[in-house]
This record gives sequence, structure tokens and C-alpha cells, in this order.
Amino acid sequence: FTRIVLNSRPVGDIEPQTFRPEQVSFASLKQKLGDNDVFVQVTWLSLDPAMRGWLRDVRSYLPPVQIGEVMRASGLGIVIAKGKKSKLPIGQLVTGTVGMTLSALFLISTNFESLYHSGWTEYAVLPEKHVTPINVPKGIQDIDFLNNIGMAGFTAYFGLKDVGNLRPGETLVVSGAAGAVGSLVCQLGKSMGAKVYAIAGSKDKCSWLVDEIGVDAAFNYKQKGWEEDFKKQVGYLDVYFDNVGGDILDFCLTRLKKDARIVLCGAISAYNSAKPKGLQNYLTLIAMRAKIQGFIVFDYENRYPEAVQVISKGLIDGSIKRKFHIVEGLEKAPEALPLLFSGGNTGKLVVKVADP
Ligand code: NDP
Repeated sequence: FTRIVLNSRPVGDIEPQTFRPEQVSFASLKQKLGDNDVFVQVTWLSLDPAMRGWLRDVRSYLPPVQIGEVMRASGLGIVIAKGKKSKLPIGQLVTGTVGMTLSALFLISTNFESLYHSGWTEYAVLPEKHVTPINVPKGIQDIDFLNNIGMAGFTAYFGLKDVGNLRPGETLVVSGAAGAVGSLVCQLGKSMGAKVYAIAGSKDKCSWLVDEIGVDAAFNYKQKGWEEDFKKQVGYLDVYFDNVGGDILDFCLTRLKKDARIVLCGAISAYNSAKPKGLQNYLTLIAMRAKIQGFIVFDYENRYPEAVQVISKGLIDGSIKRKFHIVEGLEKAPEALPLLFSGGNTGKLVVKVADP
């Protein structure tokens, strides 16, 4: 079977030589199946902007993926064999963590012992205690567990509610708005009674945001002069949910109301830069007594069930809309990951590895 390993660290953009596929014998992996392990066939993998960060050899919230190691990824899989002491039934759909204190919902490999058994691979051996069985309720798809009721959803929910502290009647601005996190932030913002303005990178994305997602207006930041339209239509903002950093953050810093909050969720415009450029307008934070706060979704782990409950309800009753950009085949993962940086995806980018 195939797995994909990190071949070389990119300096800027991800390149063709960044990853390389490896063939592994099924038997050699099966030999590693311990009494308390499960043997999982991976069905879906999530592609996330954070993966670019995991390729950097710097101190962060997770250790970097090492050269020669299987690329770390969150995913879904099915138990196809199990150790003597494992209680999970064959055929069970699972998500899992490996070697992490966070019992997050992902097939993330974080230690050397387990790295070769998860991530960008067709099969994985995982300790049973690190996998979570999931039963997909009616009205929900399995891949929603990689999106709105997975990391992207929790990020949107806690970022907006706890970090942004959004209140009814306020003005919310969301960048990266047509992506996985952004499109849910927009919808949660509307349901919390805010005026919601979206920023995204194409005309089609802006139309989708207005027509389907229900924002009050959307701005295409690739169109010259968009800032002037924004100033006219939005005026000033109470909460800026920032997924992109860079020039858009700098512009939004000039649009703060008094006591505004900036939710520093991500800065995708800087992920491929060796040396991101600094902000010019941060002094408005002082003038406006505003706050800018970074956060990591894993910090809210013990409250994931709360988010699952709220968001699942919206998925089941149809009030929460979502879009998937599906790429077929594990071998396509390396060329699909850069879509996140070129804006090639609308909604959640996932790789279908095998039929469930
Ligand atoms: P998305 O589905 O939003 O995909 C990324 C999008 O970013 C692209 O579609 C593209 O859309 C936009 N983009 C890419 N480059 C630029 C650029 N230079 N300037 C402006 N926009 C750009 O990804 P996710 O929803 O998975 O993630 C969104 C953000 O949330 C990321 O920054 C990610 O790192 C962050 N995140 C943070 C977490 C946390 O715990 N803090 C957890 C999970 C995610 P467009 O066409 O509009 O340019």
C-alpha cells in the first residue's frame, strides 16, 4: 500500500519534491498490530493550512513532521482487524489520536513510535485507546467529522464565541470567509444576531457567501479598490475573525470600533513566507482600546461536545450549510494541499482515500 512521507522542507511554497510516496507491504504493518491496537483502513483525510506550519522546523504547539516521516493528517478510517484485547468491532468507523494528551478527534501522529502508522497513508495501526468510534447520525455525513463537527467547526465556534465574544447587533467581519472555518463563522455570526461581512478571493466565492451562506455583503479582496467599497458598506467593525493575516489584517486594523476584538485564528497569507512582513496599523489597537488574541482550538477540547451539539443540530435541520472540495486518491494529497494557498477550494478540502 502507499503512504506519503516528507521528503524535504519547503522554504516558500510547497513544491513537487516536498513529499514522496513510499510503498509498504501490508504484512509488515500487520506485524506491528499489538494486543491493544486496531488496524484501520483510512477512508478520508483532511487537508489543513496548519500542515504548512508542521513542515517548519520551529517551536510550535505540535512538533514538526520530520524528514522521512509520514505526513501528519487528521482523518477517518474503518477498523479492519484488531488485537486480541481490542473491543471495537470490525467495520467500526473511527477517528483517532496518537501519542497526544489531547484526545482530539484526529488521526494525528505526533511521536516517533506512531508516526509511521497514521497521517497520509492508506492503512494505519493505532492504539485502541487513541481512537474514537463514531456513529454518524441521520442528516450528517461522515466527512462532517473532519469539518463542522471536527477541528474546523470547533475553531469557528470557540473562536467566535469565547475569543471574539460576539454580541447581538455587533458588526462581524470574517476573512478567508469561503473556507471551512470562515464559512461556519459567518453562519454562526448571523445566528448570534450580528451583521456579518465576508472577505474572500473570487467573485464566485462572494456570490456563494451572499446567496447560500447568508452574509450581509461579501468583498473580493483580489478586486482593485475593494477597500473603498468595504469602507462605504461596512464602516467600522466590532469583531474581526482573521484567518489570513497580512494586508487584510492591516486594513481591518484601520476599521476598528472602540473596544473591538480581533480573533487571531490564522494567517494563511504568511504561511509560505520565509519572513512575513510586519503590520503598519497596529497602533489603532491602543487608540480603540481594542484586543487582539490568538488561540488554538485544542485548548477547548473539554468543551467539544458543546460545539458538536449546537453544530450538529444546524446540520441536521439544514440551517447550517457546508461545501466540500473532494480530491480523489491519496496520491493526489501533495498536489491538493497547495489549493489552500491558491484559494482553489471553496469549503472544506478533503481527500477520499478509499470507499467507506
Ligand atoms: P480554508 O478552507 O479557509 O482554506 C484556506 C483559504 O485561505 C483559501 O481557500 C483561500 O481563499 C484563503 N487564502 C489563501 N491564501 C490567502 C492569502 N494570501 N490572502 C488571503 N486569503 C488567502 O482553510 P481552513 O478553514 O481550514 O483554515 C482557515 C484558517 O484557520 C487558517 O489560517 C488556519 O490556519 C486557521 N486555523 C486555526 C486554528 C486554530 O486553532 N487557531 C485551527 C484550524 C484552522 P481565498 O480564495 O478567499 O483567497
